[in-house]
Amino acid sequence: MRWSNYFIPTQKEKPVDAKIPSHQLMVRSGMIKQESAGIYSWLPLGLKVLRNIENIIREEQIKAGAIEILMPTLQSSDLWNESGRYDGYGEEMLRITDRQNRKLIYGPTNEEQVTEIFRKYIKSYKSLPLNLFHIQWKFRDEVRPRFGVMRGREFLMKDSYSFDLDEDSAKASYYKMFIAYLKTFKRMGLNAVPVSAESGPIGGNLSHEFSIIANTGESEIFCDKNLLNIDISKKDCNSDDEISKIVEEYLGFYSATDEKHDKVSFDKSVEVDNQVSGRGIEVGHIFSFGDKYSKPMKALVVNADGKSSNVYMGSYGIGVSRLVAAIIESFNDESGIIWPISVAPFKVNIINLKNSDAKCSEKSMEIHNLLEGLGIETIFDDRDESAGKKFSDADLIGIPIQLIIGPRELKNGNVELKFRKTNKKEILSFDNAIDQIKINVLKG
Ligand code: ATP
Ligand code: MG
Repeated sequence: MRWSNYFIPTQKEKPVDAKIPSHQLMVRSGMIKQESAGIYSWLPLGLKVLRNIENIIREEQIKAGAIEILMPTLQSSDLWNESGRYDGYGEEMLRITDRQNRKLIYGPTNEEQVTEIFRKYIKSYKSLPLNLFHIQWKFRDEVRPRFGVMRGREFLMKDSYSFDLDEDSAKASYYKMFIAYLKTFKRMGLNAVPVSAESGPIGGNLSHEFSIIANTGESEIFCDKNLLNIDISKKDCNSDDEISKIVEEYLGFYSATDEKHDKVSFDKSVEVDNQVSGRGIEVGHIFSFGDKYSKPMKALVVNADGKSSNVYMGSYGIGVSRLVAAIIESFNDESGIIWPISVAPFKVNIINLKNSDAKCSEKSMEIHNLLEGLGIETIFDDRDESAGKKFSDADLIGIPIQLIIGPRELKNGNVELKFRKTNKKEILSFDNAIDQIKINVLKG
């Protein structure tokens, strides 16, 4: 992609209302534009990252056996009356009336909608277990939308819903998602800590939040420090047995959200060694809640003996748009964003230091075409801007590899490579530079 044909409205100034680095950097690098409180347009760079994150999540959900559907953003209030949440959900729910005077809501979550789908089609244990997910915009009329897309009113969520015949099988479904979440975040370069949580308005008995430790996190989390040392990428989790063993290892250590921790310390029932606490950004939250919805909504399944019972359910959310901000909170420096390869909007940023030099421009275009031909997404900064502006914009938007082409090095058949993560520069021959890029992108 040629920068001059693209749309990246970068800006030097910090937006005055942006308090945390990710919000400042997303606005400065032209990823998002606020349209009203907590509601954003996603500009090209931002959208590319959002899609990359979405795809990693989708792949890991599918690997874990979940099946993708797409439910609407607008839901009928009837379903919410059935579950009893229409009145209970409160002011966070955006309520709408259509021209026929029918009451609709802009979905803040989808338990009711998915239970309606389930009960219409599934009647027998033979169709279980089942896990349906979608990636869809949600609306919650947050009292204090803030920190950019970190706490928006309209935000993108991946939500999955599991259906099982009994409690044991429901637990196995929960464990599968638990591991899928850890793997998903790991692929984005993030070490998510699963912390035991209160289940809140969604209800239930087994619940974990997945948090990214960061100074700017909105909540306090508590855990045994040994929990932080488990590395999911070093674990085999292919069979149900392996999955269960690993989850039990995680569950063996104390962890709690601040809400839960307060209750526990109030009870004084738990003495914890090695306890640490820190600020966390909640990027995912999973619940197992049995028949909380299936009972009032009469979602029944027949077992092998012909007896029918309420289906056991769980729900599993990931804040897709919040993750964009959480990743930036984890990876930035004073010059800008530092994208992990896996989610980077482009993998390579070619910087042509001298547009007026025909050889430089030709070589830049040649390398650009070569990389794109290899399937390595590349942005070529061909703008008529100073080298200084191109360098500072490159650091700001945070593409992992910068390839710098200038007349002096070019004469000797060389280019310069800069890795954004270390800010180290290296002069290499064309071939070596391309090899280095291939190795790093593949490793990504
Ligand atoms: P929080 O405690 O941050 O308000 P929640 O517990 O209400 O979140 P869930 O219902 O568990 O959120 O939703 C699943 C995920 O959606 C959360 O883990 C979070 O990553 C994301 N999310 C929730 N609310 C928002 C929001 N207002 N803006 C962006 N992402 C959000
Ligand atoms: Mg939550």
